[in-house]
Amino acid sequence: MKILDIIDGVFPISSAIKNAYISFAEMTCSAVAVVTDQVRDGERVVGFGFHSNGRYDQQGILRSRMIKRLNQAGAEEFMNAEGTNVDPFKAWQVMMANEKPGGHGERSVAVGTLDMAMWDLAAKLEGKPLYKMLAEQYRDGISDDSVYVYAAGGYYYPDKGIKGLTEEMQGYLDLGYDTIKIKIGGASLSEDCQRIEAVIALLDSGQKLAVDANGRFDLAMALEYVQALNQYELKWFEEPGDPLDFKLLAEVAAASLNPIATGENLFSMQDARNLIRYGGLQADRDILQVDPALSYGLVEYLRFLGILTDSGWSHRSCIPHGGHQFALHLTAGLGLGGNESYPGLFFPFGGFADDAVIKEGRIALAKEPGIGIEQKKELMKLYRRMLTENGW
Ligand code: MG
Repeated sequence: MKILDIIDGVFPISSAIKNAYISFAEMTCSAVAVVTDQVRDGERVVGFGFHSNGRYDQQGILRSRMIKRLNQAGAEEFMNAEGTNVDPFKAWQVMMANEKPGGHGERSVAVGTLDMAMWDLAAKLEGKPLYKMLAEQYRDGISDDSVYVYAAGGYYYPDKGIKGLTEEMQGYLDLGYDTIKIKIGGASLSEDCQRIEAVIALLDSGQKLAVDANGRFDLAMALEYVQALNQYELKWFEEPGDPLDFKLLAEVAAASLNPIATGENLFSMQDARNLIRYGGLQADRDILQVDPALSYGLVEYLRFLGILTDSGWSHRSCIPHGGHQFALHLTAGLGLGGNESYPGLFFPFGGFADDAVIKEGRIALAKEPGIGIEQKKELMKLYRRMLTENGW
């Protein structure tokens, strides 16, 4: 097996939405493709990767460091012993050569983007969906046939109001989701309570609302919110304060009657380990949302899962951020707790197979090899265009 090219492209995923911290009006995404000389069913085998919403494209780091290092090393440096497939662990070592520890910044996003493509490629060359390959490697072949997913939305749209919010949320319930999530912290506490109560009024038994402050609050405001939120039975209260303020988090977690969820803005095993050590979270209650596509990929995520096991946490406590197929496969293959979903947002990267159906809050996985980019028609068009523009 030969790797013929590694290419990247930058695409807009802008939306007219805001959370408590940022607008998504200028949001972009990097996509990568690892092109091989292998052919399966008449098609050239190509590994595809991208990163989650919320961080901008990584073209600079990809081209000046990560893809450059892979090219300079040559594919033999990141192949398995037989030379028949890529070894994502070796690729990770090549990409991270001469990178100092700590200060993870955004190189973790660039590495995560390429790591996704390496795993997609490895699974395609084995002829298996990634979740089956992971289950064989890490879970004695046991995989989950379906995965719990929840619908994240409820952003602050310009001029949308409570009526627009409840219509959006009812739409998610009608699609088959049991858990829906809205943003808080971008309005006053009393306005947020009105939004919460309007959405809770839509719920049947077995359905729950989660709320997400996107790291907006200082300690005083977080404690004010937690007291107000304690009057509701929520699925969870997400990212009350700055992602790296573990003391704040520990105080909020101690005061909260609802589960706490966080971790989407921690981009390394070391940062996530500090969350476990110092964040005051409860292993039997709280949710960890580290997103492998933003934080050095699956190679690093496996290290994080190792920390969890050593610390008495279940993999089921993990519900990764991002709403992408890569995390969906990790969830089914490694026995995580579930996955985020953003119905209709961050097109065409976000979301799952075009024909996927949500039933009682769960989604079944596609059986095709890889992570399922080919099962998303518009996303596949984008990759085909990128390949053509690069001469493939
Ligand atoms: Mg969030």
